[in-house]
Amino acid sequence: MTAKNLQRELSVRIHRTVQQYAGNKLTRQAAINHARKALSETRVQVNRLASEKVAAVLGREMAPSKTTVDDLNNATAKRMQDFTQILIDHDSKPEATQNRVDLLVHDAVWRDYNQATTDTMASFVGILPVDEIPDYTFEWTTHPEETEKGPCADCDDMNGTEFTAEEVEGVEINEHPNCVCTWELVIY
Ligand SMILES: [Zn+2]
Repeated sequence: MTAKNLQRELSVRIHRTVQQYAGNKLTRQAAINHARKALSETRVQVNRLASEKVAAVLGREMAPSKTTVDDLNNATAKRMQDFTQILIDHDSKPEATQNRVDLLVHDAVWRDYNQATTDTMASFVGILPVDEIPDYTFEWTTHPEETEKGPCADCDDMNGTEFTAEEVEGVEINEHPNCVCTWELVIY
């Protein structure tokens, strides 16, 4: 499973749910319940992917951290609010729905995946003896193979730039809808 696959799967599920709602096959509450299930299942996978990625670089076994789970729960709660608003607005302005769903799905996968990456590392560092904590950075990484047109100029400029754990908190990644950039952990 990759983040790109998660994005595709979640996109199909959320769009289908909206279509069923639009066709009066689902009540608003039922549609919200479907979306909640899809988003929370995706969240678990996003969390796992991030943990596996960090564990591979560190060469250790790691479970997803409690902090990460809490953070992503909060992120999902926010996305559920957004989804509910999308359904409400769909009744009067259906032409805007598709884009808004795509944005929601994008954020629910890529932003959360990057957040989970930095959170997982932070929680791991939090339980290590000080003398075992490696020097590390997060490297902004574009994935040209994942997109049709390649990274945008802004992301391309950032590609390969490394940030410390403190710095990375202030850097916005995945700012545009098709961005598939990730934080990759680098240890020294
Ligand atoms: Zn990007």
